[in-house]
Amino acid sequence: MTNTEPAIQINNVSQQFGSVTALDQISLDIQPQEVHCLLGASGSGKSTLLRVIAGLQVPTAGNIVIGTQMQTSSSVHVAPEKRSIGFVFQDYALFPHLSALRNVLFAMPNQHSSARRQEATSLLAQVGLSDRVDFMPHMLSGGEQQRVALARALARQPRIMLLDEPFSGLDTHLRKTIRDLTFDILRKKGITVILVTHDPEEALTSANRISLMKAGKVIQTGNAMDVYLYPRDEPCAKLFGKINRIAATPATEGMTTEFGLWPQPHASQNAQVAMIRPENLIAMPTDEPSAIHQLDSVVHEGRTHLYRIRNTHTGQELFSRSLGFITDLKPGDRVALALRPPANHTSDP
Ligand code: ADP
Ligand code: MG
Repeated sequence: MTNTEPAIQINNVSQQFGSVTALDQISLDIQPQEVHCLLGASGSGKSTLLRVIAGLQVPTAGNIVIGTQMQTSSSVHVAPEKRSIGFVFQDYALFPHLSALRNVLFAMPNQHSSARRQEATSLLAQVGLSDRVDFMPHMLSGGEQQRVALARALARQPRIMLLDEPFSGLDTHLRKTIRDLTFDILRKKGITVILVTHDPEEALTSANRISLMKAGKVIQTGNAMDVYLYPRDEPCAKLFGKINRIAATPATEGMTTEFGLWPQPHASQNAQVAMIRPENLIAMPTDEPSAIHQLDSVVHEGRTHLYRIRNTHTGQELFSRSLGFITDLKPGDRVALALRPPANHTSDP
């Protein structure tokens, strides 16, 4: 991924819709062949950013460079179909009156030639739909429709694929299968991917890098471990769920807390709290009379437990998550807490 220019450069892009600032001076480089995930709450600007990259939306300010070519600026606008970009949306947007094969052919130039027919058939085979080529969209399941949409997006042999929550309409099991198949194909073809999602698990499992979005801004970019374990601030942390805020003082290797040392690469010099995920705080039963932490409640999460723990002196609430179906701890138990920092905490992507 080094020694080449970024696949996409997003430079100072802003998008105003009346009084709504959908994108607020976004600058971001997407590297060739990476899977880059945009994660953010609904309304944070993810789809707008994809549409600007695709050329479907002309931004109020800023520019977009793909490879070495300026695509969008105050004086340039390359039409969407002239950009080497494929797009798959959440609702697949298949043509209802065209068969799977015709849907794919529709995206190709010279769609009536037999060579094109062969290519389209081959694309449908690659997404596992050899026996569905003549089916109309209404005869296909959600997962099958999604795969037709992918084949259609691949038909123009794009170098970049933009995926706007394409898996969110599928049930959990199917979602994973289709997602794996999709990324498998895109990786094999060496296509650069931007995946929009509001599902933290999807971002953490699919992406090489993740950009967290809030109110039209990118608030942190990094690899999965980086953004999950070392959020820049509270809004970044919240996108992945619960986090403990524990009093700390900066040290050379990170932050010192009452439970041990926590590496925290993005902590500012004068930070006074360490932000620590529940999995990184372990609760152990103790008979120690001086123990000040008490288990208040246990949430059974399925394969894990979330312990809600209270400091009986200060009242501060802490969360600890443990793996396993069965727990030895019960509400009222006194516990001792310790940090479990990640073994490898280099955070650069
Ligand atoms: P996300 O995809 O993260 O849910 P969007 O990019 O769709 O967010 O929207 C960002 C903000 O811009 C929202 O407040 C949305 O209502 C607004 N918005 C998006 N598109 C338009 C539009 N065409 N006209 C007016 N407002 C829009
Ligand atoms: Mg959206």
